[in-house]
Amino acid sequence: MTERIDGHTILIGLMAYPIRHSMSPTMHNNAFAKLGLNYAYLAFEVTNDTLPAAIQSIRTLDMRGSNISMPNKQKVIPLLDKLDPAAEMIGAVNTIVNDDGILTGYTTDGIGFMKSLDDEGINIRGHKMILAGAGGAGTAIAVQAALDGVTEMSIFNQHDDSWENAKRNVALLNEKTNCKATLHELENRDDLKAEIADSFIYTDATGVGMKPLEDETLVTDPSWFRKDLVVFDTVYAPRTTKLMKVAEQAGVEHVFNGLGMMLEQGAAAFKLWTGKEMPVDYIRQILF
Ligand code: NAD
Repeated sequence: MTERIDGHTILIGLMAYPIRHSMSPTMHNNAFAKLGLNYAYLAFEVTNDTLPAAIQSIRTLDMRGSNISMPNKQKVIPLLDKLDPAAEMIGAVNTIVNDDGILTGYTTDGIGFMKSLDDEGINIRGHKMILAGAGGAGTAIAVQAALDGVTEMSIFNQHDDSWENAKRNVALLNEKTNCKATLHELENRDDLKAEIADSFIYTDATGVGMKPLEDETLVTDPSWFRKDLVVFDTVYAPRTTKLMKVAEQAGVEHVFNGLGMMLEQGAAAFKLWTGKEMPVDYIRQILF
């Protein structure tokens, strides 16, 4: 690292709270080193209160950009100059690019989801998808999958703070994309079972399966799954979630955690900042 940093090194940030656990600094700094790029990526603890000053510092310090995570993904929008169309539809930003003081917001979580499936040779375009969850990750996945050509989507959510967002996502997909979306109550178990039977992929973007819910899953009965269903959990800690265990019990061939999505959302941001492809196979060896 010290060999790389000099008077010309360009800074890229990660602004979130809490953030010290993040794998992103390891991912990006190893990729810069591997490609001999003179950038450094650092994590900064930034809350909603300190966000305006932190965003202004991107311009002041002529940083190339930043990643943005919880709790700042929505709050950052009014502080930017421009939004990429997908970020505008999703209503959240996880990547900022600074072009001569003009800050543009992007969201790469949905791109990461789609690309991670492509990496595994799974093409969900033209198929029906079930998506549990309509928070930040669920919204990004829904919009990107619909823009990329998923033809039908059944969005399930429980009646909590995200229910209105789930309604909004369904309306958005039906109005702005060619994907036919329907809204479903997660509490309606018979409906969930029937929709799974009729779908190509089941994706969980609720966080059920990670702390403090690591012993839980929305689908407990392996008989609800078929061998040729694709099962995708956005959680990556633990590496094998309860949902993945149920799918494996059912003999499902294609079962994924969120690590590939995490890697590919980072690779998409890396490309926006540097114009270069992240060496993902090399980074996969370091991180996984
Ligand atoms: P969020 O708080 O914005 O949304 C949470 C969603 O889960 C909402 O739809 C909510 O209704 C639902 N939910 C919460 N508790 C639930 C429960 N007990 N039962 C059923 N539904 C419940 O969170 P987010 O930012 O969208 O993150 C969701 C998950 O996605 C997290 O596990 C996060 O780690 C993961 N994620 C992964 C990646 C990746 O790259 N792999 C990227 C972003 C998020």
